[in-house]
Amino acid sequence: MEPTPADDLLTFIDASPTPFHAVEEAAARLCRAGFTEVDLHEPWPAGGAAFVVRGGALVAWVAPEDDPARPLRMIGAHTDSPNLRIKPRPDMHSAGFRQLDVEPYGGLLLNSWLDRDLGLAGRVIVRDGPRQLRSVLFRDDRPLLRVPQLAIHLDREISERGLLLNRQQHMIPVWGLGSASEGDFATWLADAVGVASDQVVGWDAMCHDTLPAGFLGASEELISAPRLDNLCSCFGAVSALISAGDVADGVVPLIALFDHEEVGSTTATGADSVLLAQVVERLVTVRGGTAEDVVRACAASRCLSADMAHGTHPNYPDRHEPNHHIALGGGPVIKTNLNQRYATDGETAAWFRVVCDRAGIPVQDYSHRNDLPCGSTIGPITAARLAIPTVDVGMAQLSMHSIRELMASADVSMMTTAFTGWLAG
Ligand code: ZN
Repeated sequence: MEPTPADDLLTFIDASPTPFHAVEEAAARLCRAGFTEVDLHEPWPAGGAAFVVRGGALVAWVAPEDDPARPLRMIGAHTDSPNLRIKPRPDMHSAGFRQLDVEPYGGLLLNSWLDRDLGLAGRVIVRDGPRQLRSVLFRDDRPLLRVPQLAIHLDREISERGLLLNRQQHMIPVWGLGSASEGDFATWLADAVGVASDQVVGWDAMCHDTLPAGFLGASEELISAPRLDNLCSCFGAVSALISAGDVADGVVPLIALFDHEEVGSTTATGADSVLLAQVVERLVTVRGGTAEDVVRACAASRCLSADMAHGTHPNYPDRHEPNHHIALGGGPVIKTNLNQRYATDGETAAWFRVVCDRAGIPVQDYSHRNDLPCGSTIGPITAARLAIPTVDVGMAQLSMHSIRELMASADVSMMTTAFTGWLAG
């Protein structure tokens, strides 16, 4: 039996404990669908279905060889999620425990990381010769680490004051008993990737929930998973590009999965880099287009910034804008913020609404309460970088930035259908 889109999303998430793994999984899916990987550093072919990878970012497209000024239909999303990342000198010990020092990455709900069994994954930079470096992905899904919460008997104020966690003091996981010496973690990493410990010259390592993604609820109508924000949108974008390649009409479908959204996007692989602009320019010029064609293509292009949306919380309905309640399972959500924390405007919202109408998919409208600061997405950033009108869209979820997030299974297939329609024209 063919897996449902919801089943397939769980597979995608479990394959992607880090942005590097998410990109590797996306690349594997694209390769199976006939896409070719091209290198930013090498010349590119004139057209076709291809993708480029840089660190935790990936851009993929289907570009016919004719008319270089063809407009693009784009979907942008992000591969990173808030988590705990291993510091450069992580080996430490206290009260008879070996510990690994971490830095919280992004705006994580710290409490959700307490008392969870954590694995380790990421990439190791290995030295093979005096100047020869290579990057090797690793993952270990065994329960290796845990941030133990203080017993209630030793924290009597917790019931009145709530749980107060200091990001420096209270989030350091234990990973065994005994004492630590400098280099222990590097040695462990060397073992994990099968090299000598003096070959390990760098790493980007992070913790992940060892419990796989799964269904939840009396009728399994919900999905309980880590990193739904924003692997759900990455999965939707990849699936949609694979389906849209054959049906795109007069446009170039393209997806851009960026890293580092959770920390502001201003990095070489973030949305606030020139990565996407460079790819778009090359796509036009390798097909014989001029600088004018680049601007013409962009001028008629449209972008959908895909990121998760806040469903209305059953225990806190008062935190939501009363006239814009969002249901899990109610279909894609158009996110509008008239102060432009989201890039949506009346026209871009209308484009997306028409796509969903044609496919018979319901659409919901999100607006943040005026008295709460609104989060943002890559939408306004990519819109500004390329001067391409953008709509911010996402699927509804609860527990955003928790180690374990919650969404509705039914929304997954509505998302992939809507995204395919968007990319197709
Ligand atoms: Zn997000």
